[in-house]
Amino acid sequence: METLFIDGKWAAADDGAHFDVLDPASGEVIDRASDAGAAETRRAIAAAQGAFPQWSAETAYHRSARLLEAHRLMLDRKEALAELLSLEQGKPLKAARNEIGYAAEFLSWFAEEAKRVYGSTIPSSRAGHRFTVLRQPLGVVAGITPWNYPISMITRKVAPALAAGCTIVLKPAEQTPLCAAAVVQILADAGTLAGVVNLITTAQPGPVGEELLRSDIVRKLTFTGSTEIGKYLAARSAETMKRVSMELGGHAPMIVFDDADPAHAAKGAVLAKYLNTGQACISPNRILVQRGIYRAFCEEFTARAGRLVAGRGSTPGVSIGPLVDGAALDKVAAQVQDAVSKGARLLSGGSRLEEGQLAKGWFYAPTVLADVDESMLIHREETFGPVAAIMPFDDEAEAVAKANATEYGLASYVYTNDLGRATRVSEALRFGIVGINDINPTAAAAPFGGIGVSGLGREGGADGIDEYLDVKLIGQVVGPA
Ligand code: NAP
Repeated sequence: METLFIDGKWAAADDGAHFDVLDPASGEVIDRASDAGAAETRRAIAAAQGAFPQWSAETAYHRSARLLEAHRLMLDRKEALAELLSLEQGKPLKAARNEIGYAAEFLSWFAEEAKRVYGSTIPSSRAGHRFTVLRQPLGVVAGITPWNYPISMITRKVAPALAAGCTIVLKPAEQTPLCAAAVVQILADAGTLAGVVNLITTAQPGPVGEELLRSDIVRKLTFTGSTEIGKYLAARSAETMKRVSMELGGHAPMIVFDDADPAHAAKGAVLAKYLNTGQACISPNRILVQRGIYRAFCEEFTARAGRLVAGRGSTPGVSIGPLVDGAALDKVAAQVQDAVSKGARLLSGGSRLEEGQLAKGWFYAPTVLADVDESMLIHREETFGPVAAIMPFDDEAEAVAKANATEYGLASYVYTNDLGRATRVSEALRFGIVGINDINPTAAAAPFGGIGVSGLGREGGADGIDEYLDVKLIGQVVGPA
């Protein structure tokens, strides 16, 4: 399949190169994607540059209408997109449908925000003088996205960029180029001008990234992915002084106080932990449970985790899919082995799933570890797999200190029925997002992002479009009449 989209046309790589796209549930090849290099990337940047004057000069109402049309098309194609997403990335169909709904929300939200890019006037201290502030599209954007939410992570970037009047060169993860191509087809069918959205699929992130980084034309890099790569890209972006948005890794704590119902909290914790097979940046990585309900919570959590059904995402009744690849499987297995060797109690799982068809894919059993402590890898490394790490605490101060003992700062969660405690703890947590008795504190309408090594900037909400706008101050001498 030709998966490069440059200046409004689908194309193959210049040398015809391609790479295999694998089904993570079976390891089989489902298709091939075009493997672009530096030359195709330069053409995509040039196309985005060429389209920028016209796209940015269109009325906000025109851009808004294109995004609303893309929203309509995405929902029209929801079932086919969900099947593709489930096949290419592995998540169960129900979760895939949820992701498409979430992805479409960004298109409609930013279609509306396009019409609300206001400026302002500032009173001057000088007579006969005016200050006006304009917010203008910053130009060509490069967007680099991960495989775990391969459709919504794209609309979360493309929608605000297009709404603001910017044009974009998109480089999706190499595991999920087909989902990216399907989203770009929707944007093209919605009537966006040629060159406004360009897609570079590649198995060579280095040379493609290099072109995007060293280009003076690219004025902004928006990245979602690991902290390690994010730090590199942010540092390199400084060479051309690009704006950056960095949505990076997380190590979310979930604090369960003993005034909460342990069964209700365990239900929420299981849903949040095993969502997307634990491959989510906001997945709870440390579950801190107050000693009074520690045992009851662990029992309920383990019972619920044991009821999860692993398998191919399209199989009815499956609630947990495969990991994305063999490297992910190895990382999870190493964390479990390390924790058990240092004294963690394995309450459930702890091994690769290899019965029948599962042997062909990258399946790992939903795993529960209790009595995890600071000495273990899982306590500091992002897990990105179906392994729950549970540990006890005694009081509120200890819980907050333990929760904050990480360089990451993306999501955090609190279960409590004490209003004062909910307020105190949510204010004390050093994270960009806090869910109070809430395992899904996200929406297109709300700002999403982290602090610390979890990143810079916010996506979604009213803040999301600011990331694509430059602020211009106009001082004007009006003089006496
Ligand atoms: P990754 O390895 O950092 O890759 C992310 C993207 O960066 C991929 O498209 C990758 O391309 C590309 N990339 C790698 N090296 C590059 C280079 N030198 N130049 C340009 N691009 C380069 O992350 P991942 O494993 O795909 O995703 C998982 C991570 O994303 C986790 O840490 C997770 O927490 C984070 N995440 C964060 C959020 C958030 O909003 N904060 C949301 C979802 C995921 P290739 O695929 O070709 O390697």
